[in-house]
Amino acid sequence: MSLPSHHPGDTLLIDYAGGGLCEGAALVVATHTAYCPGCRRMVGEMEAVGGALLDGIEPDETLSPDGLEALFARIDREEAGRPPRPPCQPAARPTAADAPRPLIPEPLRSYLGGGDLESRRWRFLQPGIRCIDLKAGPNVTTRLVRMKGGVAVPQHTHGDMELTVVLDGGFSDELGSFQPGDVAIGDPSIDHRPVSDPEGCLCLATTIGGLRLTGPIGRLFNRFMDF
Ligand SMILES: [Zn+2]
Repeated sequence: MSLPSHHPGDTLLIDYAGGGLCEGAALVVATHTAYCPGCRRMVGEMEAVGGALLDGIEPDETLSPDGLEALFARIDREEAGRPPRPPCQPAARPTAADAPRPLIPEPLRSYLGGGDLESRRWRFLQPGIRCIDLKAGPNVTTRLVRMKGGVAVPQHTHGDMELTVVLDGGFSDELGSFQPGDVAIGDPSIDHRPVSDPEGCLCLATTIGGLRLTGPIGRLFNRFMDF
């Protein structure tokens, strides 16, 4: 299976590593890192730097520019004193004996509490689209969304941010084609109409600030639609 080609980007990874994302957004980023060794490594390095910074701060130290410079210098000195890291091992080539990737990777699988997705109640959203609500708050919703093949989500824009990671199948919109592991980021500047691939699509989506339908019919039905 190929590696993802759409990533959360540095800002979201930094926020994720620093614990600054809401639960639903963090779940999308964490799920992406299960597919993406590059982002997984970046998050690990950011967490290590954050930990080193916290370790280095005495309770009475303030983060003045001079203090921060001294702190980085100290981290550099401590790094220099450590034994060199072992060289990277080449990635093992997959073999026929390798287990196939589970449809739902960790940590999302544990978050769902295991069990068979088919046995769950999938709520109707529109013809060809059903969902399982994982978190539904006044401003943030996190859902598993399943689309049949060739189904279009109505044209819409975003109140704040929409983070979607593909788990199976795929979809395309004005921004590109999204396959398993890819993250699609929507914001108020993006007006799009995602269409599922012929084999359908299963994804995890966190929406902050709601969606607003923008097509001619959509505007009329905005108040009735539950997206
Ligand atoms: Zn990535």
